[in-house]
Amino acid sequence: MIRGFFEAFGRDPEGIWAAPGRLNIIGEFTDYNDGFVLPMAIDAVTTAAVARRRDDVIRVSSSGAPATTTPLASSRICNLTPGNTASWSSYAFGVVWAMTEAGHAIGGVDVFIESKVPIGAGLSSSAALECALGLALRDLFASTISLQDLALLCQRAENAYVGVPCGIMDQTASLCCTAGHAIEFDTRSGEIEQVDFDLSAAGLELLVIDTQVRHQLATSAYGDRRSACELAAKAIGVKALRDATLADLDKIPDDVVRRRARHVITENERVLSVAALLRSRRFIEVGPILSAAHQSLKDDFEVSCAELDLAVDIATHAGAFGARMIGGGFGGCVIALIRSEDQRTIERSVTAAFASNGFTPPRIFGALAAPGARRVR
Ligand code: ADP
Ligand code: MG
Repeated sequence: MIRGFFEAFGRDPEGIWAAPGRLNIIGEFTDYNDGFVLPMAIDAVTTAAVARRRDDVIRVSSSGAPATTTPLASSRICNLTPGNTASWSSYAFGVVWAMTEAGHAIGGVDVFIESKVPIGAGLSSSAALECALGLALRDLFASTISLQDLALLCQRAENAYVGVPCGIMDQTASLCCTAGHAIEFDTRSGEIEQVDFDLSAAGLELLVIDTQVRHQLATSAYGDRRSACELAAKAIGVKALRDATLADLDKIPDDVVRRRARHVITENERVLSVAALLRSRRFIEVGPILSAAHQSLKDDFEVSCAELDLAVDIATHAGAFGARMIGGGFGGCVIALIRSEDQRTIERSVTAAFASNGFTPPRIFGALAAPGARRVR
């Protein structure tokens, strides 16, 4: 990390900050409907090594930058403008821009990024990058910002600067989660409650099955589903689907829009049910709710794909208590709630099934609730 920074900038960093990827246990596509989500931090982090400069130039380099792009991007802070490029460096520039625009006096910095969070897998490598840098800038320049306000600024970077219409969950999870806990997060009120999710003490874990499939479709589908949800809320006459109940579905004339809304309404209920189960440490009973969520994502929200369905199916048959796809869909990861001792068996079954279907071999790893963003040096 320090070597990478040195090779890029010819000096040592002032400090190193880390922010984790996140895994959303339940609550998929509820965040832009003012609903509830239940994410936890994973142990894979993105680190930002940062040193201040005497001018107003930001230079950023990443060991994970796509090979086709420039390894070092730079700009004067006063020249940063939203929507300039869709390059990876926009995620870093966006954070500086959003903090500056909010009135924080951010000076020039050299930034080196390194990441263990898989990109585009639904584990939020984008928020991990934003939050690692955001936390560094907060500590170096603007130490009064709360973590939740910093999450909003990082979201604004992604929404307004990069041009990706993401909700507020990813950044909040990366910044506010704590080890051994998930956060029950009400995206309308901003209220956060740390909920016990110490699976290892119960001999359990979440198994993450990364299908390695990355479909471009996810981006266009995201906007399309978001519009359908807005249409549904309008037809029902509520501010957001958070306020609707199953009885309201009759007010939606279009069948597709009705199914999209049904996913959101039932998913919100599932978040509340899972949070209640966690509070009484009834972890295993969470399994079937995960599987119900997958069914809803597959049939009502229609964002699954063959690889995700196969992973859910095989994991469940091989002993998982339940499983579901996570993230934007059309690829990315499945999570399965399992007994730690069953990990090898389930891994082998899923890998074999992928091979016999001619799918790319999946990458499989266990995940436990890890700490949120922090300064590491
Ligand atoms: P994810 O689900 O991983 O958040 P996104 O499409 O939202 O997927 O964000 C991925 C994008 O974030 C990448 O295409 C890249 O532009 C940027 N990114 C993430 N991690 C890195 C990294 N380590 N180095 C450079 N860019 C990164
Ligand atoms: Mg992202």
